[in-house]
Amino acid sequence: MMRWARAPVGKLCGRCAHPIAKGAPMLVIGVGERSRIEKIRGVCCAGPAPPDLPEQVATTTPLPPDLTRLGILPLDWSRRPEDER
Ligand SMILES: [Zn+2]
Repeated sequence: MMRWARAPVGKLCGRCAHPIAKGAPMLVIGVGERSRIEKIRGVCCAGPAPPDLPEQVATTTPLPPDLTRLGILPLDWSRRPEDER
């Protein structure tokens, strides 16, 4: 699967190591159906980006929820009761 996206941070082209500036278009190539491995290609190797590629969308990273409040994922398993391990 291939898709065009804008670099969320500065990256390097996976083929020629040309720098891809933050916000610059890049081709993301998914490897395998279920794999989350992705290869990055800049316009240097993938050619010009499609003209309809949207501009960089400002995204904010949500703060992770307080897991202890949710009662899941105890950080120290040794403190859990025996039957919950
Ligand atoms: Zn390249």
